[in-house]
Amino acid sequence: MSSTRLLGKRALITGASSGIGRAIAIRFAREGASVAINYRSQPDEAEITRQHAVAAAQEAGHKDFKAIVIGADVADEAQIKKMFEEAISGLGGIDILINNAGIQKCAESDQIDIADYDRVMNVNLRGTFICAREALRHFLAREYKGVIVNNSSVHEIIPKPLYLPYSISKGGMENLTRTLGLEYAGRGIRVNAVGPGAIVTPINNAWINDTGKSAEVCSHIPMGRPGGADEIAGVFAFLASDEASYITGQTLFACGGLTLFPEFRTGWSS
Ligand code: NAD
Repeated sequence: MSSTRLLGKRALITGASSGIGRAIAIRFAREGASVAINYRSQPDEAEITRQHAVAAAQEAGHKDFKAIVIGADVADEAQIKKMFEEAISGLGGIDILINNAGIQKCAESDQIDIADYDRVMNVNLRGTFICAREALRHFLAREYKGVIVNNSSVHEIIPKPLYLPYSISKGGMENLTRTLGLEYAGRGIRVNAVGPGAIVTPINNAWINDTGKSAEVCSHIPMGRPGGADEIAGVFAFLASDEASYITGQTLFACGGLTLFPEFRTGWSS
């Protein structure tokens, strides 16, 4: 799919060395944005993302395109600040922040190790906030009508037993998105989120590589299949673009119907 709706924009994407973040970087490049590709621990994978982004931009015929790679742990405020400095100097500014980095850890809630709890919250929610704050400071200082899009989840609204910190972090992301959306709407800055369902990325290797588990996952999804990372990247591109110029504070669920109470498909309750 080709479009130039992000032409000339500059985007920083966290956690872009794999999965949805990689797909966003490539999609944004194809749609005309320059991209800063953040990674935490896999520089080689981030470089692969960069090469794909460059190829996508070239294929689409975009000239003044830049793609840079920046290492930083979004759980660390000092590293986030340095990442913003590098992204702003490397791209000449940032118009779009994509808060994509996220992790999950599985445990029964009565057995959760507090270090695991803190790590998930620090990456998924605290990191998202600090990145958003840095982006807002940059937008306000330069009077940019910037855009922030957070990668949330269907678990923003659907409880996820065995993944309590993940559930809490994505639930918190709803009010992070709504509050920032409201607070900065008057200054032309939009803040939205995407809520993916079950998407084929490394975070889901536990069921992707297991035929039986994959079939079970599909059986719970009204559309009968998991989503592709590029299907989610397209939603990010829409929300980051001027096509979404009147949308702020919203989470757009892209989940094959998972948020529609699938258990009620058969009308068993009446
Ligand atoms: P993924 O594991 O491929 O991607 C997560 C990315 O975040 C990785 O590149 C990882 O290196 C990066 N990351 C982790 N900790 C980091 C840190 N401290 N600093 C910087 N980067 C860090 O999985 P994904 O599915 O592409 O996940 C991306 C986002 O999508 C996550 O926020 C996840 O919660 C969300 N999401 C995924 C699904 C799904 O089914 N795949 C569904 C809903 C939401």
